[in-house]
Amino acid sequence: MNGKMQGVTLVADWEPKPGFKLGSKDIEGRQTYLGSQVWRNPRLEIRTYDIPTPGPEEVLIEVKACGVCGSDVHMAQAGEDGYIFYPGLTGFPSILGHEFSGVIVDAGKNARDKRTNKPFKGGEAVTSEEMLWCGSCKPCADGYPNHCEQLDEIGFNVNGADTKYLVLPARTIWSLEPLRKNYSDADLFVAGSLVEPTCVAYNAVIERGGGIRPGDRVVILGGGPVGIAACAILKRAGASMVIISETQQNRADMALRLGADYHVNPLKEDFAERVLELTEGMGADLFMEATGLPEVVYPGIEKVIWEGRTLNSKVVVTARAEAKMPVAGEVLQVRRASIIGAQGHSGHGTFPRVIECMASGMDMTPMSTKKVTLAEIPENILQLQTDRSECKITYIAP
Ligand SMILES: [Zn+2]
Ligand SMILES: [Zn+2]
Repeated sequence: MNGKMQGVTLVADWEPKPGFKLGSKDIEGRQTYLGSQVWRNPRLEIRTYDIPTPGPEEVLIEVKACGVCGSDVHMAQAGEDGYIFYPGLTGFPSILGHEFSGVIVDAGKNARDKRTNKPFKGGEAVTSEEMLWCGSCKPCADGYPNHCEQLDEIGFNVNGADTKYLVLPARTIWSLEPLRKNYSDADLFVAGSLVEPTCVAYNAVIERGGGIRPGDRVVILGGGPVGIAACAILKRAGASMVIISETQQNRADMALRLGADYHVNPLKEDFAERVLELTEGMGADLFMEATGLPEVVYPGIEKVIWEGRTLNSKVVVTARAEAKMPVAGEVLQVRRASIIGAQGHSGHGTFPRVIECMASGMDMTPMSTKKVTLAEIPENILQLQTDRSECKITYIAP
């Protein structure tokens, strides 16, 4: 396809901090696994691009909706020294946007639709994993694509979806056609843009956390989009009680709307005492740590595990944090408890399962609280640096 398109582009200066050494997959001046060590003076520009052409294994997607993620905010946000907040894989300039949905407009001859096991015809509603795992490194070959050693990430080091078209490998594309059963066209694409963050939550609590048995009690700490999605998934999985711990009322309200039964505000009440009270002294089978504040939340989690009467509690570490977790091994030993790390959203049948959950009634679209145009994306990303009153801001293509 000929023509031009505009893309919301993150631009920054390559100025490594003293002592920084290029890693094995880093590319001088272009890409690093340690973003906050290298990139300085981030700015958002709307740049013009040629419409890309798909190769034999690839598809060309017309973007219909794309959510703004906290990592978009942290890539565009700098500390006083000018370095970006986002610590991970980044290659700039890059078009942002990785929580998206769209339709197939062109496909290479070897690009197949996994849902039908046939070549794409064009017109299919789709979303994509954000993680472009390679499929041939040892973690990929062992079945752990979330730990790929040759990872590319859409909207981080390859061009993302805050634009009109993007080309992606067919292997990470998932059909959203099942959503046509219960969504109008516009809502389908909003729902589709929420598949990716919902898969992060699913991977954490079901795949890594091992899931729950119907009747289990769960506690989600942190009511960002991933924490809220976990409330919806665990309620659907049969939790008898979903407790959201969150300091911001609007986020707690969203969690309550999508699946949580009770809200604990740890600024206003003692987290552990309130959880023990709500569970009548039982505590919880599963905790999800989605705040990124380990030094703040683990003393409360530890107290619930220690004083609650539930054995085998699991704590799933979902948010990223540099600080260490203050937890006594004794508590894990005596209470048969475990702490499990989770990252990513790929593999294990997660994407198609989340899409089927949505197609059968797990409605995440209330999370999209604000709709914006392409031109409005930069100002909204900047506003999110200080104002987190919107749950999810979604770019809707014209
Ligand atoms: Zn994201
Ligand atoms: Zn790999």
